[in-house]
Amino acid sequence: MVDINNKYKKCTICKKEHTSIHTEVAPGEVIYVCDTCLETAKNNFIFICMSCGQVYMRPKKQMIERMQDMELKKAYMLCEDMQIIQGIDMCVQCDPEGIIEQVNMHKTAMC
Ligand SMILES: [Zn+2]
Ligand SMILES: [Zn+2]
Repeated sequence: MVDINNKYKKCTICKKEHTSIHTEVAPGEVIYVCDTCLETAKNNFIFICMSCGQVYMRPKKQMIERMQDMELKKAYMLCEDMQIIQGIDMCVQCDPEGIIEQVNMHKTAMC
């Protein structure tokens, strides 16, 4: 899903590098991901809050090991070798009452 054009924008994840690599987490919601962050995505699941822009990273191994739900665990194990960035509707900062794990994670982008 990665496509490259000549537009350079600030990386959505680290907000430091500029990159032309971008991907859609949902129709019309484009995120930019630099090489460094793509590299990070190999070992970490990256979640980005679509409402405040806060970025969360979880080590893949650790996250999979902790999972109790076998179905979910299997699904995540299949994704272990992929570079995945997920857009979440809300994060703990936007919704202090909620817990990030309970957030609907239907928006998934693969790089
Ligand atoms: Zn970056
Ligand atoms: Zn947020």
